[in-house]
Amino acid sequence: MTMAAAAESSNSESTPTSSPLSAAVAAAAAAASTSPPATPSRYESQKRRDWNTFGQYLKNHRPPLSLARCSGAHVLEFLRYLDQFGKTKVHTGMCPFFGHPNPPAPCPCPLRQAWGSLDALIGRLRAAYEEHGGKPEANPFGARAVRLYLREVRDTQAKARGISYEKKKRKRPPPPAPPQAAPPPQSAVLPGAT
Ligand SMILES: [Zn+2]
Repeated sequence: MTMAAAAESSNSESTPTSSPLSAAVAAAAAAASTSPPATPSRYESQKRRDWNTFGQYLKNHRPPLSLARCSGAHVLEFLRYLDQFGKTKVHTGMCPFFGHPNPPAPCPCPLRQAWGSLDALIGRLRAAYEEHGGKPEANPFGARAVRLYLREVRDTQAKARGISYEKKKRKRPPPPAPPQAAPPPQSAVLPGAT
């Protein structure tokens, strides 16, 4: 059984194929912001996709990383990596729109993964890990560091975007769209690329 997912050490692709990931993430965002997760099969397929995405990430990791060795720190690395595919504007403290839920103009602040998307993603991966035989006490997705990180992301984004996540109970996306401006395309799902 030397079949570890190693091997790829000479494969230096600095630009990862973004399609599967962004699709997964976009779908995650959609799942997080659309109505209640009524259809279990949808959740299941999303979970499977997330799991595959994470497996792919491990494979491309340098040095290669096996699931057994994966820790909460690696999960954090993964979450930060996903930020480059994010679609949620998170204002920096220096931005004049810091704390504005609906900024009147564009700004150069970075796009990130929305907290809700990450939170939902981690929930699915955590479940998938155990479904694939992982022990709950070793579950890297349930690590304390991951929980703390998510909480920090939530608080930071709540401040930067002027949105309180406490009130929102995962019912539906916030309605406050001003008369003329269309609400930001928070869940721009990519049509099934690849
Ligand atoms: Zn800004």
